[in-house]
Amino acid sequence: MTIPVTLIPGDGIGPEVVSAAVEAIEAAGAKLTWERAAAGASAVPTHGTPIPAETLDSIRRNKLALKGPLATPVGEGYRSVNVALRKEFALYANVRPARSFTGVETRFTGVDLVVIRENTEGLYSGVEHFIDEEHSAAETISIITRKGSERIIDYAFSFVRTRHRRRLTLVHKANILKATSGLFLDTGRKLAAKYPDVDFRDIIVDNCAMQLVRNPNQFDVLVTTNLFGDILSDLTAGLIGGLGLTAGANIGKDTAIFEAVHGTAPDIAGKGIANPTAVMLAGMMLLEHIGERTAAERLDTAVREAIASKEAVTPDLGGSATTRMFTQAVLKRLK
Ligand code: NAD
Repeated sequence: MTIPVTLIPGDGIGPEVVSAAVEAIEAAGAKLTWERAAAGASAVPTHGTPIPAETLDSIRRNKLALKGPLATPVGEGYRSVNVALRKEFALYANVRPARSFTGVETRFTGVDLVVIRENTEGLYSGVEHFIDEEHSAAETISIITRKGSERIIDYAFSFVRTRHRRRLTLVHKANILKATSGLFLDTGRKLAAKYPDVDFRDIIVDNCAMQLVRNPNQFDVLVTTNLFGDILSDLTAGLIGGLGLTAGANIGKDTAIFEAVHGTAPDIAGKGIANPTAVMLAGMMLLEHIGERTAAERLDTAVREAIASKEAVTPDLGGSATTRMFTQAVLKRLK
């Protein structure tokens, strides 16, 4: 039996890196059937909207999607196509692992972190406006609910437990944002009683950022609200070599969308030199999610070995290989 997955090539470098990832995922032995769907700026000329109804139907049916980066066209009625997809499918957990690669020079070795970011509330709730006609002042409302906090923190606790990770750190700013961040922290402390086997700590976000760049290995899994998670997960991506290497999962109650953390990279789109690692690893996370452990491990190992060998790495990693050459280096390890 094969599992149907909605495949969104996306914009900019999206189609180049997504097709490379599909080849690698198939070579790893996964039994998936791809249902291609359009989204982003490239969907507008053909479908008249960056989020076509067929694409939403396909995700609704399959409950699984792998997507390339999407550009949000100005004036199409969306603040962000990505945020709209997360809202549509209530993808409340954004999971972004950051694990060091042999062969990629960075300040620290042995980094192995996971940022779990609340994906639907907080400062990204979309309640933002200018308060006067002159646009001399503006306000954004951060919405934090106990229900939303419980959902994400409970997800993080069970992630730590089921993956046999060592620690969960809740990141907040409850000393200043006493109501919103305070509610998030209070929810975490209460939930901790349900997970006595998990080493649970909390830390203020500014201190966390400083500690992460001084000694990242003191952390393991981090759970936090939307904006802090957005920033800290880019910071952790930087610790292991940058956005071209980092994948993310957007998880909801019954639907999950997997993607690279990077954007459409317009500066290199069409040049055939984009690094497909992040989308390949997004595919690896999708395989883990559906229980295809063996294929997931094979893919992860092949990508990591191809990078470590340095025989064909792309310019973002200091090499001169094309996307195709790097993909061949991965595929050869999956034969
Ligand atoms: P970006 O991630 O596209 O690019 C930042 C830099 O990283 C560029 O120099 C780019 O060349 C490089 N880069 C990114 N991915 C790479 C890869 N796989 N291989 C090699 N180099 C890579 O960020 P940006 O320039 O801020 O955003 C461009 C567009 O992407 C914007 O329209 C933005 O809205 C969109 N975006 C989409 C997503 C998403 O769909 N998840 C995420 C972020 C940005």
